[in-house]
Amino acid sequence: MSACPICTHGTLRPGVTSVTLERGQLTLVIKSVPARVCDNCGEQFVDEAVSARLLEVADGAAKAGTQVEVRSYAA
Ligand SMILES: [Zn+2]
Repeated sequence: MSACPICTHGTLRPGVTSVTLERGQLTLVIKSVPARVCDNCGEQFVDEAVSARLLEVADGAAKAGTQVEVRSYAA
C-alpha cells in the first residue's frame, strides 16, 4: 500500500468507483471500476491499465453510436 499523493497522510486501499466518460454525443457511466481509495481524504485513483481499458470501451461505444449508457466495468 502506498501513501496518498494528494493529502500525503492517508493510505490507498483497494476499492471501486464510478467513472463518467464523455466523448462527442456519448455519455458513458462505468460502475464498479477498480480503484485505490485514500482512507483519509477519499481521493480515488484508477490505475493506468484500467484507464486505458475505459478509453477503449468509450471508443467502442462512441463508434456504435451510443448516446447514454450505464454499464459495469468488465476487465
Ligand atoms: Zn488522501
